[in-house]
Amino acid sequence: MVNDFPRLPALWQPALRGFVDGHAGLIRELAHGFDAPLHFVFPERFAGNVAAFQRVLDARGIAGRIFYAKKANKARCFVRVCGDAGIGVDVASAGEFAAALAAGVRGADVGVSGPAKADELLRLSVLHDALLAIDSADELARLAALARSRKRTARVLLRMLPAGQAGSRFGLSGEALGAALAFCAEHRAHLRLEGFSFHLSGYSAQARCSQAGLAVRACATARSLGLAPHTIDIGGGFAMSYAGENDWGAFLAAHRPHDYHAHKTFEGFYPYHQTPSGPAMLDAILGGVPDGETQPLADLLNAQQLQLMLEPGRALLDQAGFTVFTVQGVKDAADAKDPDGYGIVTANGTSFSVSEQWFGSEFLPDPELLPAARDSRSAPYRACVGGASCLDSDMLTWRKVAFPQRPEAGDLLLYPNTAGYQMDSNESPFHELPLPPKIAVTLDGARPSWRVDRFPPFPGA
Ligand SMILES: *Cc1c(COP(=O)(O)O)cnc(C)c1O
Repeated sequence: MVNDFPRLPALWQPALRGFVDGHAGLIRELAHGFDAPLHFVFPERFAGNVAAFQRVLDARGIAGRIFYAKKANKARCFVRVCGDAGIGVDVASAGEFAAALAAGVRGADVGVSGPAKADELLRLSVLHDALLAIDSADELARLAALARSRKRTARVLLRMLPAGQAGSRFGLSGEALGAALAFCAEHRAHLRLEGFSFHLSGYSAQARCSQAGLAVRACATARSLGLAPHTIDIGGGFAMSYAGENDWGAFLAAHRPHDYHAHKTFEGFYPYHQTPSGPAMLDAILGGVPDGETQPLADLLNAQQLQLMLEPGRALLDQAGFTVFTVQGVKDAADAKDPDGYGIVTANGTSFSVSEQWFGSEFLPDPELLPAARDSRSAPYRACVGGASCLDSDMLTWRKVAFPQRPEAGDLLLYPNTAGYQMDSNESPFHELPLPPKIAVTLDGARPSWRVDRFPPFPGA
């Protein structure tokens, strides 16, 4: 019976899978030793993803700059890779800025986005020569005053309101963009216009390609005003696949409300399989022809001597981490309406560590059971997964996951591929439960080496 229930097996990078299969004892020891949920993070995978994006830029002959959108994960190890690789980091607060600097990223390699940035963040950006994406006329005016008073020149991108997303609260519309350009021309002693930026929701390569075409045209307009823009920043939103195409299709076709605890329904899910994704999506953007143009974006950029900047968050974290909870207990659910029966597993953490729940959705790739002992509990068993809190809605997984056997206290539950946004964007020490530590694992030696990931100068960061 259980074999008929919807499943969504996760994709695994072989070295990471090898670590889980070959070092279950180490994972168990760490879970026991820290006595909390654990986020395992893999800086080498992150570095591999950076290199894959870079290869696309090189193959297309594009001068490009990658900025890691830091909000997707707070781990220090990933920002350290950025420092070592010489790529940039995209931040939106003084705290993220400080964390980037402390990890070895130079101020000039910090990109600063977010609406109506606080004066303190503008000040830091000007003093460190960071690149600011400006969201409004009044922010631009505040920045000019701040730079003037310090006898500095601020580096500026003007953020465009996306043509196809007029409802977005971010960016400057056509008219405001024209006024901002005139303002930059007037205050060129303290504002250096370096180009235009945008960040689209959704995962369409063509929408990004077309918006980039508009940004190329905006550069021409800026040049006609005597300004010297050289960069187009296409933001983030590079798609990522968590599951294989067939598995995702089969899951979508099979799942029903009664496959979820309390018949929970959701407005939508992340598309857990997408094509193209990651670096291939960058290639599709560069190879695409923007609406109203006749040449591919890559050719337009090169013809105008423009460099491309991108800000992937999630896609750089693909296969760069997973999360392990310990099972605290299991009981059979009381739902008489479910003739198949199912259980409720309680994990030793909360759904704050699986952020998708906090966007009214669910992280769907199957969590994996790592049983404490190989014993005869072999009958398959379905269960949802709740958090160790007093909130009915604190569910890590509403879905009744088909486990190969009945979970028991002391077993581990592994949530795959959680580094991008799932881990820590929403975590809080609710109930005074400990915040899950992050364990940075490197696999390049004879055996895996681990270290607690933290920022020594910032307790709690
Ligand atoms: C969040 C964000 C990103 C990163 O988005 P991903 O979907 O993680 O790639 C990039 N740029 C800006 C301005 C953002 O707000």
